[in-house]
Amino acid sequence: MALDFAPHARAGHTPGRVVVQHRDGYLVVTDVGELRAKAAGRLLQDAEEGGYPAVGDWVALTPDLAGVSTIHAVLPRRTVFTRRAADSARKVQVVAANIDVAFVVTSLNADLNHRRIERYLAAAWQSGARPVVVLTKSDLSADPEAEAAEVAALASGCPVLVVSAREGRGLDALLAQVQPGETCVLIGSSGVGKSTLVNAFLGRARMAVDEIRESDHQGRHTTSHRELVLLPGGALILDTPGMREVGLIDAEEGVGEVFDDIERLALHCRFNDCTHEGEPGCAVRAALDSGELDPGRWANFRKLGVELAAAEEKAERAAREAERRRLAALQKTYRATKRDHRGGRHD
Ligand code: GDP
Ligand code: ZN
Repeated sequence: MALDFAPHARAGHTPGRVVVQHRDGYLVVTDVGELRAKAAGRLLQDAEEGGYPAVGDWVALTPDLAGVSTIHAVLPRRTVFTRRAADSARKVQVVAANIDVAFVVTSLNADLNHRRIERYLAAAWQSGARPVVVLTKSDLSADPEAEAAEVAALASGCPVLVVSAREGRGLDALLAQVQPGETCVLIGSSGVGKSTLVNAFLGRARMAVDEIRESDHQGRHTTSHRELVLLPGGALILDTPGMREVGLIDAEEGVGEVFDDIERLALHCRFNDCTHEGEPGCAVRAALDSGELDPGRWANFRKLGVELAAAEEKAERAAREAERRRLAALQKTYRATKRDHRGGRHD
């Protein structure tokens, strides 16, 4: 661990890594085993937005081998995957922390979806992790290399790997992307082959691929360290259900990274606030006309921008609704109290 744990050690605390977050607590991997834990009341009080422990966090805790351990501190995070809280547009939830490499996994079958890859990439860039695109099930594709080249064109600045778990193809190249001691995650839609990849790495069926979907959260954590797996070569893979759902992004900065070619173009528009809708001297239009910028890619960029705005608006509406309900509840309590003061008349 590159982080300075000394002050926590002096306080008598043990280091641990959060591998699972439940509604009512955490599972933390430590030197003394996998422990159930809760955040100390003071930590919860002090926690700023996103300050609660999250999957992947290094924490300082007091171990309680039989009962519930107490988490006293969350160590500074190197990277964070976030998502906007459902009940507030301004609140940000940390989905996972300290991820070094994000494998954006998608399968080379009929529904290879470029837009989806762009969204996952945006989430990965935004987090601070290094994204790597993984195209799975190459055994099902007539021309995996051509498909990879197309994806490489939209994933500027990140490696694109072709693998087949079935044929054992490309797995070493994938492992080579993660250094010993680093943590990686597999993100991508359900069914693209993430569990199969993890199993392939372990060289055995770590988990029955279908079983994981059917079992509930409670039943899943009896085997220790199941979610934080040591890979051959010394890297770690964090494989938790929550992590798999990352990618519904609200990450404008991340979008910029994936479409950096378009952003660079836009710098050359004559007007700073060019909307690229037909202004004179628009570099984006010029690139579209000359064929330098692919119209499909431009359309994706536009669409993503619109979706981000829509997602934001929806989150804000939800926040207003939550506030309205809170006030309504307060009012009800207030009225009830008033009635009680008037002599317990309940109508
Ligand atoms: P996950 O939901 O992303 O974890 O996907 P799974 O690992 O459960 O895989 C979904 C399906 O794809 C399963 O039926 C796998 O057997 C199949 N699958 C996974 N990898 C490959 C592969 O390399 N080639 C082929 N043909 N099928 C695969
Ligand atoms: Zn323009």
